[in-house]
Amino acid sequence: MTAHDAPIARGAEDPSLGYLRIATEEAFCPPELARMWRELIAAGGDLDPGFESLVGFYLRSTAERPRYVAERLGDLGALRLADMDATGIDRQVISLTSPGTQIFSDAATAAAVATLANDQLAEACRAHPDRYSGLAAIAPQDPGGAAEEIRRAREELGLCGVILNSHTNGEYFSDEKFWPILEAAEALDMPIYLHPNTPPRAMIGPLLEAGLDGAIYGFGVETGMHLLRIITSGAFDRFERLKLVVGHLGEALPYWLYRLDYMHRATVRAGRYACMKPLERQVSDYLKENVWYTTSGMAWEPVIQFCRQVLGADRVLYAMDYPYECVPAEVRAQDAMALGPAELKAFFQTNAEEVFGLERD
Ligand code: MN
Repeated sequence: MTAHDAPIARGAEDPSLGYLRIATEEAFCPPELARMWRELIAAGGDLDPGFESLVGFYLRSTAERPRYVAERLGDLGALRLADMDATGIDRQVISLTSPGTQIFSDAATAAAVATLANDQLAEACRAHPDRYSGLAAIAPQDPGGAAEEIRRAREELGLCGVILNSHTNGEYFSDEKFWPILEAAEALDMPIYLHPNTPPRAMIGPLLEAGLDGAIYGFGVETGMHLLRIITSGAFDRFERLKLVVGHLGEALPYWLYRLDYMHRATVRAGRYACMKPLERQVSDYLKENVWYTTSGMAWEPVIQFCRQVLGADRVLYAMDYPYECVPAEVRAQDAMALGPAELKAFFQTNAEEVFGLERD
């Protein structure tokens, strides 16, 4: 082990650090779900092309990286804790990996997976209350049932938010049929983490053809669009206190703030689309007032600083994206940013505590 790979002390072990590191986009996958996905892939037929590309690769490949990831996704115990210890992570906010329940066409199957995942995750959080917090999986295929699962997750399981792995069989939360889920999340003060999925069939063609459908680019395009669809649908005018969390420093939307405001205004004024209605606030206002941003592997200070500048220092927080990323150098790079002690504590610790209500229970 070189000095560069040496374990990084956690904040709880080294109070001189001045903060705990809370990683907020950390994935797991129950072995039962991995088995169901494997059966879907084996059955073949008219599979979602993004699912086939991504999950098919992770389940079939014998290369080192997919094996490393698959082994860790299934672990909520010693292996995960050892990785957290080695990379200086005090707490993980854990969620069901993409696409979670959202690949299933049958709502009852999807709901059963959500229940199973939430029960397993809650048990792990109870076993390691100082190291783990969890987000609730839902089955958007049954919006009423998903709303009830959010209530159960909050009130009975003590989970601290909701994971939404972007589109559900090509459908988006801009569709009002999903709004009972937004209503429940707002009422229970459960932030929804809008996490990437591979682009749906109607979108993936040119990305897949070039090998760009995954984390390199396609995830961000699809998920950024989903967030924008939610905003322009008026969902935040209906649910003013709804909180969304988005990874990868906003899936490129922060860079577009000026143009989004200008073009949304111009498009509404021109009456070009029946679906594009006037909003109570500017597009950028929702992005500054209803959305939080995590780094999840975007360990690049210029963009982190840009997001802090245009969105607010209280809205940008740390995520590792474990086990897809588990890179000590990225932790060190973010420790070393040109920020004061209070700003670093907000970035690594208190912004996460506030948005996920980690201190409330
Ligand atoms: Mn992720």
